[in-house]
Amino acid sequence: MLKVQCPTCDTQVEWKEANKFKPFCSHRCKLIDLGEWASESNVIAGPSANELDPRMDEFDIEASFPPADDFFR
Ligand SMILES: [Zn+2]
Repeated sequence: MLKVQCPTCDTQVEWKEANKFKPFCSHRCKLIDLGEWASESNVIAGPSANELDPRMDEFDIEASFPPADDFFR
């Protein structure tokens, strides 16, 4: 199985069609690399990307932010 390193957290990632985030290990790492995660953190004053647990999955990240409708109400 071909593997690559996630550019964000250096986790070994299997290079396969099922991994829609490749070469990243997760949606989170893809967002970090694109800078989208940083801009969201600035708005909500959350922890910096470096302080987040790389094992945190996408569901946990989304659950930790309020829905946009509630946040800006
Ligand atoms: Zn990663």
